[in-house]
Amino acid sequence: MKYISTRGAAPALSFEEAMLTGLALDGGLYVPAHIPKLTKDEILSLQGLRYQDIAFRIIKPFVDDAFDDDSLIDIIEKAYADFSHVSCAPLVELEANHFLLELFHGPTLAFKDFAMQLIGQLFQVALNRRKQKVTIIGATSGDTGSAAIEAFRGLDAVNVFILFPDGRVSDVQRRQMTTAKESNVHAIAVDGTFDDCQSRVKDMFNDHEFRNEVQLAGINSINWARVLAQIVYYFSSAVSLGAPLRKVSFTVPTGNFGDIFAGYIAKEMGLPIERLVVATNQNDILHRCLSGKGYHTTQVAASISPSMDIQISSNFERALFYAYGLDTTEIVKLMEQLKQNDGFEITNDALIALSEHYSSGMATEVETFDTIKTILTRSAQLLCPHTAIGVKVADELRNNKVPMVTLATAHPAKFPAAVKNASEVNPELPNIMSDLFDRPERILKVDNDVVQLKNLIRDRI
Ligand SMILES: *Cc1c(COP(=O)(O)O)cnc(C)c1O
Repeated sequence: MKYISTRGAAPALSFEEAMLTGLALDGGLYVPAHIPKLTKDEILSLQGLRYQDIAFRIIKPFVDDAFDDDSLIDIIEKAYADFSHVSCAPLVELEANHFLLELFHGPTLAFKDFAMQLIGQLFQVALNRRKQKVTIIGATSGDTGSAAIEAFRGLDAVNVFILFPDGRVSDVQRRQMTTAKESNVHAIAVDGTFDDCQSRVKDMFNDHEFRNEVQLAGINSINWARVLAQIVYYFSSAVSLGAPLRKVSFTVPTGNFGDIFAGYIAKEMGLPIERLVVATNQNDILHRCLSGKGYHTTQVAASISPSMDIQISSNFERALFYAYGLDTTEIVKLMEQLKQNDGFEITNDALIALSEHYSSGMATEVETFDTIKTILTRSAQLLCPHTAIGVKVADELRNNKVPMVTLATAHPAKFPAAVKNASEVNPELPNIMSDLFDRPERILKVDNDVVQLKNLIRDRI
């Protein structure tokens, strides 16, 4: 399987190369040259399988011969060994025909573990084989960073630098990043927003000299391997609700569009998905865009769902690439306009193409609080703020014919202040993390300045 860039000017790469590279050299994002299809019978045969076995069947066609069957099976088993729920991604019934897909049973309590644990194992095998060492740089609004540090700590072929917006992540998120003891992982507090962090990461990737000097690799949600890992739970949950004989819809609390884009790929692979519903917080650029108002960035407003406090949604470029019929020239133009004018308009045809798959909605801060409170009373489920946004939007858009699955993207204990405020219940950290607040922290503080960052990284590797 070859991977091509959404901007058309970077070389096509193998799975392994695309994974190790992250962002394409032309600034674009890698997508598979074609999307493998599963037959109805192949999907039917997933019913009743373990999560890991479904993962193998979904992932295999995308990696081709990069990993042979035995090593891929081994990698998948190791990736999900530390999940605290036997089925990895259990479904819970919230109300009639509305289900929560619990994606927070991994080691850092958010869905990012599904991709990051897998990527850690894939990197280790690939780099050892190549006798190579890389520097991983990532930006995080909280959950990616903790998942990356957890997945890569102690791996000697990898140095990890995670940029997070100082003061804009929860204490639990910060501590999950700053309390790792291993010297190959570094948490960097940037004086800026998540979008600043993401822009500085892009700056470093676009500096080809620096990129080669430190052997830069990216594990942000732009990395194709992350999208790939996330396709699996769309299949596992849909088949347990009767797919392919029955349609299923999904609502996804969305920021960088990585998680929901995995749902689009699942649909293109043959999974009968009726709607993919984008749920945003007050930073609702995606909802405005899908409602036909163009893609125009505004200031990021800090919210109680910090992992969705985003205005530049990097994976949306992949959705646009398909909506524009794989026209890389158009994508280059849009991205140039985004850079010059902070936004762009979408053609009518592309908007129609998007609305064939995606619907959208948003929740204000008050609505998010109210949903946490109402669902606790009505269904005895304590939701994290991100999940609450999903549930609110799902409730607006779902019908009684097609089951709706809302992705529960984090454990409520990852956002205790907001959850307590809304529900008067203090969500307890699971046992594995009960000493989190006693562990010593290690933080590097820097300005929102790429030169300072490069020097720091050179110093530490
Ligand atoms: C990252 C994250 C999201 C948003 O996911 P994207 O793939 O960026 O759309 C939502 N909720 C939580 C808890 C997250 O960590």
